[in-house]
Amino acid sequence: MSDCIFCKIVNGEIPCYKVYEDAEVLAFLDISQTTKGHTLVIPKEHFDNILYCPEDLLGKVIRVAQKIAQAEVTTLGAQGVNIIINTNEVAGQTVMHFHVHVIPRYSDNDKLRLEFLSNKLEKLNLPSIAEDISKSIK
Ligand code: 5GP
Ligand code: ZN
Repeated sequence: MSDCIFCKIVNGEIPCYKVYEDAEVLAFLDISQTTKGHTLVIPKEHFDNILYCPEDLLGKVIRVAQKIAQAEVTTLGAQGVNIIINTNEVAGQTVMHFHVHVIPRYSDNDKLRLEFLSNKLEKLNLPSIAEDISKSIK
């Protein structure tokens, strides 16, 4: 028996408002509804986060996120969506079962605040950073 909340949702031990299901992927409404229709897409199998999710399954999860985003635009009248994957606690991940947030956006006055603040670029060695990342991609 898993202690993971999302595994419990997959197993039917905790109820959810289901949006989509196939053999490997489940999508359901986020309990917090940051905006109307805020949905979570998860692999049914437990992986702590995107870093551990196998490639094929990741593709399926992302494809379902795209389908839900399309439905939110066509049916709920969203003008856009944010698709967010928080990874590890430092990045705001609170449930350690890989999930993709699909959050419809209706106006810039809704409850979601995302801000990419600019760093002091002159203090960063960009060629070296790019090379470090590039050479360790498997
Ligand atoms: P995170 O911060 O890990 O990226 O997002 C976890 C999300 O799971 C939060 O937005 C939270 O509202 C949602 N959540 C936590 N517990 C439950 C639950 O029992 N049911 C549903 N539907 N969503 C949950
Ligand atoms: Zn789990």
